Amino acid sequence: MTEEQTHIGITLGDPAEAPPMMERLAKCHCGSLRAITSGEPLLVNMCHCLACQRRSGAIASNGAAFAKAQVTIEGPRKVFERNGQSGRKVRFYFCPNCGTSLYWEPDVRPDLYILAVGAFADPDFPPPSASIFEETKHAWTKLPDGMKHFQGTMIASS
Ligand SMILES: [Zn+2]
Ligand SMILES: [Zn+2]
Repeated sequence: MTEEQTHIGITLGDPAEAPPMMERLAKCHCGSLRAITSGEPLLVNMCHCLACQRRSGAIASNGAAFAKAQVTIEGPRKVFERNGQSGRKVRFYFCPNCGTSLYWEPDVRPDLYILAVGAFADPDFPPPSASIFEETKHAWTKLPDGMKHFQGTMIASS
């Protein structure tokens, strides 16, 4: 080993000491459509909009935003595109077999995938920090302290 290689090895550090990049698996109800994420979500939010209520069948949709480079998608998928409230398109990807809406892709932030938090089936997943479209929130829903509250969306057009 040359002096330079030794030096590079020291500079980069021992890989065993580097914190492991947290990997998580989100999958649809039948398991054929999957998303593997690397690292922490950039943002987790809870959306009370009526479109998310219909899409998910739940009274609120919890989404975790990851940079596309953090996400690997595997398996068959179909897409449903609609106009977002921002006026830009949003594409929702779902399993053609079981219908689970696994992730979506907003044109307003083309660098991101938003993944359905429930698809991780992980009660320890990071909680949402923002609550959006509260104008159509079910009145009985109680939210945790410390969340940011928005009428409409919080993601600014880029
Ligand atoms: Zn499926
Ligand atoms: Zn929504």
